[in-house]
Amino acid sequence: MAKKVVIIGGGAAGIDVLDLLLRGKEGAEKMEITLIKKEKEGFFSTCGLPFALQGMYGIKELELIEPNYYIDKGVEFGTGTEVTGINLENGYVSVDTGEDIKYDFLVIATGSKPFIPPIEGTNLEGVYTLTGKEDGERVEAAMNANRSGNALIIGAGLIGLQTAVAFSKKGINTTVVEMLPHLLPTILDADMTSIVQKWLHKDVTFLLGKPVSAIKGDHQVRAVIVEGEEIPADIVLISAGMRPNVDVAMKAGIETGESGGIVTDRSLRAKKGKSYLNNVYALGDCVEVIDAVTYRPRLSQLASTALIQARVVANNILGISSSYEPCLSPTVAAISGLQVGSVGVVSETARRYGIKLKVGKAIRYTRARFFPGRKLIIVKLIFEAHTEKLIGAQIISEETVAERINELTLAIKERITANDICMRERCFEPSLTMVEDVIVDAAVKAQK
Ligand SMILES: Cc1cc2nc3c(=O)[nH]c(=O)nc-3n(C[C@H](O)[C@H](O)[C@H](O)COP(=O)(O)OP(=O)(O)OC[C@H]3O[C@@H](n4cnc5c(N)ncnc54)[C@H](O)[C@@H]3O)c2cc1C
Repeated sequence: MAKKVVIIGGGAAGIDVLDLLLRGKEGAEKMEITLIKKEKEGFFSTCGLPFALQGMYGIKELELIEPNYYIDKGVEFGTGTEVTGINLENGYVSVDTGEDIKYDFLVIATGSKPFIPPIEGTNLEGVYTLTGKEDGERVEAAMNANRSGNALIIGAGLIGLQTAVAFSKKGINTTVVEMLPHLLPTILDADMTSIVQKWLHKDVTFLLGKPVSAIKGDHQVRAVIVEGEEIPADIVLISAGMRPNVDVAMKAGIETGESGGIVTDRSLRAKKGKSYLNNVYALGDCVEVIDAVTYRPRLSQLASTALIQARVVANNILGISSSYEPCLSPTVAAISGLQVGSVGVVSETARRYGIKLKVGKAIRYTRARFFPGRKLIIVKLIFEAHTEKLIGAQIISEETVAERINELTLAIKERITANDICMRERCFEPSLTMVEDVIVDAAVKAQK
């Protein structure tokens, strides 16, 4: 008998599992796969939304896969449908159409939902979040209406800043309010974020270290209150982080951890009571991961994390034993032409866990100093003091950030030391690199 696989969720995580099961042909041919998702689209690339709002392409272009693509491959692809319950004892899920669907393997990929601060006025018209196609279309319509010409963004994370750039490109006065004292607090140290802040200062007003206390208006938002001051805005974007969407899993008794995500073992099997369920997997924004530096539980809400986890889940369902390693969450983003990248721990996190540090920071060019078109590049490397092993890296430049972050992700995984970085061979050609790379310079400085 064909095994029945039910996947709850059709975001990056659910779709990656589906694609990998379909690609793992032999096993998948013996499977009946059902995917259930709330949205109407097949697959929508949420990651592309900030750039669509910046006018680089239309939101419609982010609808990458039509439901028919999967239906033609024999998948029961249930769009516009919600799973209302999971019956772990008898192995079925209940959906809002009243149907119960049996499974041999269940995959929970229910994603995340935006954190809405508990303040007055978040339900006013003109207050938005940015989590998917419908949100994107609402924000775009508000930008085009541009009534008062003032927008305010709550939260100075990557999505908040990328959207601030979109607003400002549209000629809207944009203020970003952040409760913590500096921008991008989870991925950069304060000295590095000040570079980003300077880069954006002509386009965006920053209010840092200040919480928003209320959003004001009658029906439509009119202003936001920050430390008693009324800041006019008819568009407010709440971009204050995402929380794992674990409602349906928790209702079934599945365990969540201190980060709020579903607890899994290395095979990504979900936990109920004291044991891990043999045939129930969870992945993506809704799960808790273990940090590869601190070994503490946390979240890693990235499409890139979801893809690796999907490989583990699909392999295990296909009968190929596979485990998910503690993770480093390499992150990169372009903010108004400035590339910002980070991997591993920031200094503040390391200190919180009592890790003593050696830090090296270097500023150089991306190509030889005589070569036209070279860009400045700033690299900060964070090493564990007594072993000099690399545990974190932050990079800012107008080019080559993503590939360097990927290189340093491997270096952290391989427990590379500052001395290793200085002594390993690197390539050189003046139009592409400096003879001594900025990463080597940062490692030398850390050793001093
Ligand atoms: C604006 C934006 C930009 C981003 N940019 C990047 C980037 O550049 N790089 C990067 O790596 N990451 C980026 N991310 C993060 C990335 O989008 C997420 O990590 C990724 O989408 C997570 O995928 P997921 O499938 O776990 O969750 P989601 O994409 O949230 O999908 C969850 C799915 O579960 C479904 N669902 C939930 N509950 C139920 C239910 N009860 N019944 C049926 N279906 C249900 C939903 O309908 C949805 O289909 C960005 C996120 C945002 C919001």
